Amino acid sequence: MEGMSWLGWVVAALLGVFVIRGTVHFDLNKWLKDRRKHRLDNARRLCPHVEADMVNGQPAVKSLFESPFGTVASQCQQCGVVFHSRQSVDDNTRYWAEHPVQLLERLDRFKQLAEKAGYTD
Ligand SMILES: [Zn+2]
Repeated sequence: MEGMSWLGWVVAALLGVFVIRGTVHFDLNKWLKDRRKHRLDNARRLCPHVEADMVNGQPAVKSLFESPFGTVASQCQQCGVVFHSRQSVDDNTRYWAEHPVQLLERLDRFKQLAEKAGYTD
């Protein structure tokens, strides 16, 4: 009788540990997923929608927008944001072309955040 009770406690304790570990494991996965999504969102928000090739020490700005055939909408190939007019795309590209220092800083931060999020090209 007492042996059974002792064994019962051990089983209960093991089950308890199993359940707690299972719960922690589940939450950890969810947390990691949320964190990754959060970081991806952060990185996306920093996307300048252009890339810069250094030419003679100056960034040559190139738009990352592509327009699906037959539509006026353009989608950034890096972050997925959609602009609904050609004008917005041109304005964005011109803005960064006129602000090369800010662009290089932004690209730097974007790259850091994207790497943290495990987002690689
Ligand atoms: Zn973008």
